Parts: sequence; C-alpha cells; structure tokens
Amino acid sequence: MDLALTAEQEAMRRTVRDFARDVIAPRARETDERDEFPRDVIRRMGDLGILGLPVPEEWGGVGADYLSYILAIEEVSYQSAAIGVILAVHTGVATLPIVMFGTDDQKRRYVERLATGEWIGAFALTEPDAGSDARAIRTRAVRDGDGYVLNGSKAFITNGGVADVYTVFAVTHPERGAHGVTAFLVEQGTPGFAVGRREEKMGLHGSPTAALEFADVRLAPAQRLGAEGEGFKIAMSQLDGGRIGIAAQALGIARAAFDAAVAYTKTRRQFGRAIADFQATRLTLAQMATDIEAAQLLTYRAAGMRSRGQPCTAEASMAKLFASDTAMRVTTDAVQLFGGYGYTREYPVERLMRDAKVTQIYEGTNQIQRIVIAKSLERGGLP
Ligand SMILES: Cc1cc2nc3c(=O)[nH]c(=O)nc-3n(C[C@H](O)[C@H](O)[C@H](O)COP(=O)(O)OP(=O)(O)OC[C@H]3O[C@@H](n4cnc5c(N)ncnc54)[C@H](O)[C@@H]3O)c2cc1C
Repeated sequence: MDLALTAEQEAMRRTVRDFARDVIAPRARETDERDEFPRDVIRRMGDLGILGLPVPEEWGGVGADYLSYILAIEEVSYQSAAIGVILAVHTGVATLPIVMFGTDDQKRRYVERLATGEWIGAFALTEPDAGSDARAIRTRAVRDGDGYVLNGSKAFITNGGVADVYTVFAVTHPERGAHGVTAFLVEQGTPGFAVGRREEKMGLHGSPTAALEFADVRLAPAQRLGAEGEGFKIAMSQLDGGRIGIAAQALGIARAAFDAAVAYTKTRRQFGRAIADFQATRLTLAQMATDIEAAQLLTYRAAGMRSRGQPCTAEASMAKLFASDTAMRVTTDAVQLFGGYGYTREYPVERLMRDAKVTQIYEGTNQIQRIVIAKSLERGGLP
C-alpha cells in the first residue's frame, strides 16, 4: 500500500499550512476566548480555494482529490479545531451532497457560492430525540400542491445561525421507514424558519452549534435535494467522508499537542535538568508519537480509498475511532507534561484537550464506530 503524497498534494498541504500559520494561528486563542464565528478568516479561506478544494472546477471549486481536502482539514485543525470543523461541515457534508445529488440549477445557486465562501452551509440531521439513531427523526415535510410544508426541530447543528443554506432531513413518507426521508435546501430568512438556542460547549469555541426550528415553512419543489425518499441515502453517502474529515481534525489536534509538549519539555527544568531528559517523559512522548503516526496512516489510507472511489466504510470508522481516541490521549498526556501550567489558559494544551473530546462524539460516537466495524467483520469485509 503506497501512502506517499503526490507532489500536488504536498504543494497544497504547504499552501494550507502556511495560511493556517499566518492567518489562523494568531486568531486561535481569541476565537476560543470570545466564542465568535471568525467570518473574516472563513472568507479568506474561501478566497484561497480551501472551502472548495474537493468541489469540481466547473462549479467554482479547485477539483482536488479527497485526500488533499483531508490534509487541509488536518492543517487547519492543527491551529484551530473550531475552524477545522467549520470547514469539515461546510465543505464535506453541506456542499458535496449538493454536488452529488443537486440539479444544475441548485449547483448554480448554492455550490458556486459555497465553494468560494460567499455563502456558508450547514447539515441538519440530528434532532433532540434522534442522535445516534438517526432513523428516528420526526421533522415532517408534508406535500402541499407542488411544494411541501416543513415542521419540526433540529439539534446540535454546526454553523447554525451563521449558515446561508441548510440541508434539512425530514420525513415525507412515515410508513416507508428509512426510505421515507427526504432532503431539502432551506435558506436563512425563509418565513417560519428560526435558529433556536446556541449551545454553550466545553470546547470548539468559535464554531457555533445551534438548534433549528421549523414552523409551517413552505418549500418550493426546487428546494428538494434529490428524489423523494432519497434523504437517508444522501445523508449516509456523506458519512464515510465526514468521518475521515473528523479523523483529520483529531489528527491536527493531536499533532499540535505533541509539538507543544516536545517544545515545553525541552525548556522546563526540574531537579537541575530539562524534564525531557527524564525517561518517564521520553517514554510518554514516544507513545504519543507512535499513536499519531498510526492515526495518520489510518486516516490517509481511508482518504486515499475515498479519493479512488473505493468503498471505505469500515476504514473510515477505524480512522475516526483511532484518531479521535489518540487526540484525547495525546492532549491529556500533553496537559500532564505541562504540569500545573498545562491546566491554565496560558498555554494552548488545555484548549486542545477540550477540543479533542468532541471528536469522540460527533459524526457518530465512537461506540457507533465500533458497531460499524463489527458489522463489517460479520460480513467478512476486513482482515
Ligand atoms: C459540537 C457538535 C456539533 C455537531 N454538529 C452536527 C451537525 O452539524 N449536524 C448534525 O446533524 N448533527 C451534529 N451533531 C450531533 C452529533 O452527530 C450527535 O451528538 C451524535 O451523533 C450523538 O448523538 P446524541 O448526542 O443524541 O447522543 P446519543 O445518541 O443519545 O448517545 C448517548 C450515548 O449512548 C451511546 N449509544 C447510543 N446508541 C448506542 C448503541 N446502539 N450502542 C452503544 N452505545 C450507544 C452513545 O455512544 C453515547 O455514548 C453535533 C454534535 C456536537 C456535540
């Protein structure tokens, strides 16, 4: 298996790394402290093409492969996990389904604006009583003449309140189960659509997470994405890619914590020597480096498979599971190596530890990832 990056992928990674160091890094702490959506940074990411990396050129994107886009999420998340998830949701689960399932009119209206960052996108599947069990959604869209009337609510929606267009999943045919769900593109400002409570989160400050409310929202037929009953298929088609995106976010967080720990342990002195000279410290760093390396290999392998159009459900789940657990372990160990200072806001490792936790929860909790992997084993799909 060849996991070497191509010259193009390397060049793209360098471009995003430089941008993240020069533009995102100086804003990361302030974004966390103020918990404000960094709209100007997102706009600059749009100008540079980062928001449209995997979008075909004909629709305003860069036309890069999936692995290039995954490398971009990793580099952005290295500096700010909050901006990393804004990118992952906006591009991976809000824009790409419209590329895959939208009509040419929808691509002209939405994809061209999303790829350049003129508009922000969101993906609204989760509901207050339907998280891991996404099939239990109750938001209803009822036929009314040519169009639909939408009622219900969504929970935990990334980019909620700042997005211009939301992909909303609703039940159109309750008797058909998973085949009775349909996707709709709902624009901000549509009468009857309101953004509800914004969550106050442990981490990812700057990435808004909000509830959405729909009360008799009238939708034109042109706002339906894909065919009636295709909603669940659309949602599931983005799951593998979305999970690889979260693996990349976790990887970026873990690398940032590791680099901070290496730098700190070389300069902090106790008992007359740098704490990096103690074998206990070196063994901890060795384990962190090994876990990061393994997480990177799993993530790039899954992203490479997705780039080539190969099925990668179990591989995506393994990458997400291992990379997010690695991020949690590595950030916790980094705080430990910083001692008391690690527990303060003076250093970035406490933010990294808070941000790491959510990677074990969203895009399917890690328990759900294990269930997906186990199902694949049942089918004999993995070694
Ligand atoms: C910051 C943030 C951003 C998010 N952004 C979005 C977004 O943009 N769009 C969107 O649609 N959703 C979003 N989500 C929702 C996210 O995908 C859900 O939180 C996640 O899928 C888990 O659902 P839940 O929170 O309802 O937990 P539950 O499903 O209630 O799970 C609670 C616990 O039970 C466990 N559990 C559940 N079922 C099983 C089972 N079968 N076997 C074993 N254990 C099980 C879970 O693993 C978990 O530990 C976001 C969440 C967060 C926190």
